[in-house]
Amino acid sequence: MIRTDVAVVGAGPAGLTAAIRVRFVKTFQALSLHATLIDPGQPGGLLRFGGERMLSGPGLRLPAAEVLERLLADQRRLEIPLIKDQVTRLSQQDDRFLLNLETGGQVQAEAVILATGSRPLVDEDRFSNVLITYKGTSYLRSILREAAERAGDQPVVVATNRRAALLAELYGDLLPEGIFLVPEGDRSRLSGFLSGRIIEAGTWRTAESPDGRLELHLPAGECLEAGAMLLDYLSFQARPLLPPVLPQPETKGGTYRLTSELETSLPGLFLAGDVSCRYASLATALGDGVTAGFGAYRHVYRRRFGAEPPLFAYQAPERPQDHLERELPVPTYDLRLRWLETPPPDHPLLGEERRPADHLPSDILDRTLAEGLASLVPLEDDDEE
Ligand SMILES: Cc1cc2nc3c(=O)[nH]c(=O)nc-3n(C[C@H](O)[C@H](O)[C@H](O)COP(=O)(O)OP(=O)(O)OC[C@H]3O[C@@H](n4cnc5c(N)ncnc54)[C@H](O)[C@@H]3O)c2cc1C
Repeated sequence: MIRTDVAVVGAGPAGLTAAIRVRFVKTFQALSLHATLIDPGQPGGLLRFGGERMLSGPGLRLPAAEVLERLLADQRRLEIPLIKDQVTRLSQQDDRFLLNLETGGQVQAEAVILATGSRPLVDEDRFSNVLITYKGTSYLRSILREAAERAGDQPVVVATNRRAALLAELYGDLLPEGIFLVPEGDRSRLSGFLSGRIIEAGTWRTAESPDGRLELHLPAGECLEAGAMLLDYLSFQARPLLPPVLPQPETKGGTYRLTSELETSLPGLFLAGDVSCRYASLATALGDGVTAGFGAYRHVYRRRFGAEPPLFAYQAPERPQDHLERELPVPTYDLRLRWLETPPPDHPLLGEERRPADHLPSDILDRTLAEGLASLVPLEDDDEE
């Protein structure tokens, strides 16, 4: 069992930003918590498909690779571990969250941020004959044509879901022999709409055959050879694939009801980015990451210390404008000292409490904390617990 303060499921832009904000609070008074990212693929999510990302409009675009590089630099700097695995189930146990991983491991966390985007991505971006539908439906047919051309006499595999029924007319004649991979329960919704073979398989592994063809290994043991693959994000963005969450948070119109901190009705469970089914965009993912990251930090801090965390220059829950009329409080190291003296039970930093923290100058204290946090990485399995 691996323990962490905040588990962030999905290492796309939303998840990376959320983990960074859990770790990078203003350390003047606040404490850094431990965040762990979980993703079956390389970090980056859809940013790994390259190209440019338009943030606000034509005047503000950034190369996807550059955004990713900067996020990864912070992930490294803040020593945020990444568990390369897929979360298959999320439940609550003794007031904590328990995350089950595809390979059999478990992670326990006090707060969870689901930043799973549209669906798990493993290594599809490695293959030049994997295409993705990301623009509007008016581009679908040209992308399909390109997939059919690249596939030659081999089939095109389309990863999609029940929403493809709405696109059936666009698929039309272009993919008569297509193979459609859909999540459990979606096949019956698509029979009659799509010609070709429909297979229920929420996940797969991609590989290259010795003669350079694309292979898809399905969980049932079947291996499909394909000339090209099309990831139908038009359908997935409308209906993201979430790991089963038990108990189910309150929903509204099929999506989770969220507070302004992006917390669901299950206290401590947050959503960020495309998975929240709001506007699917990079700017939203980054903003959500900050909001959910701070929200999760606040949740853990409150539970642990029974107080509001000093996240900003002003002290929550006071309002910033209250400070305009009087001097800002003089910062002290009180909170950190208190925490070092009496770390919460079970916290990985336990053991630091014997240091005479109140006599330590701040630079040593900072180093003490940094050392303690660095020693947490990489996380180790704790099977005896
Ligand atoms: C080619 C392309 C061009 C785009 N252009 C623009 C643009 O110009 N402007 C713009 O704003 N947006 C654009 N987008 C969309 C933008 O990239 C996405 O909105 C953004 O990446 C969403 O970020 P996210 O972190 O929410 O999700 P994602 O980037 O999808 O990342 C989600 C991550 O979660 C992981 N995951 C999923 N399920 C699990 C699980 N069960 N367990 C563990 N991990 C899991 C996935 O493997 C993935 O790494 C474009 C997308 C593409 C593909």
